[in-house]
Amino acid sequence: MIYLDANASEPLRPEARAAALAALDLGANPASIHGPGRAARAVLETAREALAARFGARAEDVVFTSGATEALACAIRALGNGRRTMIGATEHPAVAAAAPGAAILPVDPEGVADLGVLEAWLDAGPPALVCLMAANNETGTLQPIAEAARLCRRRGARLLVDGVQAAGRVRLDLTALGAAALVISGHKLGGPLGAGALLLAPEESALVPLIGGGGQERGRRGGTPGLPAISGLAAAAEAVAPPGLGRWRESVEAAAVAAGAFVVGAGAPRLANTACLALPGVRAETQVIALDLAGFAVSAGAACSSGKVARSAALLAMGLGPLAGAAIRVSLPWNATATGVAAFNVAYGAMAARLLRWAA
Ligand code: PLP
Repeated sequence: MIYLDANASEPLRPEARAAALAALDLGANPASIHGPGRAARAVLETAREALAARFGARAEDVVFTSGATEALACAIRALGNGRRTMIGATEHPAVAAAAPGAAILPVDPEGVADLGVLEAWLDAGPPALVCLMAANNETGTLQPIAEAARLCRRRGARLLVDGVQAAGRVRLDLTALGAAALVISGHKLGGPLGAGALLLAPEESALVPLIGGGGQERGRRGGTPGLPAISGLAAAAEAVAPPGLGRWRESVEAAAVAAGAFVVGAGAPRLANTACLALPGVRAETQVIALDLAGFAVSAGAACSSGKVARSAALLAMGLGPLAGAAIRVSLPWNATATGVAAFNVAYGAMAARLLRWAA
């Protein structure tokens, strides 16, 4: 099986696996004051420092969570407290679910947020919370987060950046951005499942917890931290994106276009690893199943969280209409190979030729 679904989960990186296994063997609670507890604590704090250095935060402003969904919910509740909120139209459902009733920031047909609308909305009322993803999970479209951060800062608004898909793939630095908070997820970086982090700007450091409890994470997130996953997350975050992904993505897109598809978001700056390919008239799940049978793991719409494939809200927001149901996502992992990508291009061409014949 050739795995091309990195945006759902990156394959585990060897350095992350080694760090997680070492932490599994510690067998102590980092809150305990005895020797084994202190050893576990040292591993936790080393991971915190590494993550802070990697993403431009202070170590004490890194809050570990179970994943990005929890970190986003925590940040939206705490930073949005009493503020009006605006979220990008193509945000992950984790953001939409945590901000019911939020104003929606529209995107253009390439998926790029309309900063003119953001500016007017910021000007029209009291200080706000704005949630914008650095990179979209389905199309790879990069949002102008530096510009959005500038607009927000000038108007006393807080910007929360969902950095889940951008982390490890493009430069992300909370201090350089001047955003209020940044969220990352371990399994999207090549770490184990089950750890994420909320990185806060110093002025947002005192956060009301979403989950109370034993005072862990400086009182900002109750619950014993999942040390193996956290340790793996920090090790994975140190890794750099492999060269060559952009070239391979271009070859995937060229092969798909030659087979009758079009590339969603082609005109926007995008992640080097992500291609969103729409094949008019052919249901996305049919394509995913055909490619699965041919030995290639890709996905349809947003990750099919419960095994079902819903029409993607993000692609609908980009104005794709019925074509939103005909788009698949090919996301190249850190360990992609030229031969794997070449084999996929052949399989995609054969799949498209067969299914387009049936659809006609
Ligand atoms: N934000 C984005 C952009 C994502 O792609 C995802 C996962 O698909 C999430 C948030 C949620 O991350 P997690 O799986 O860590 O809860």
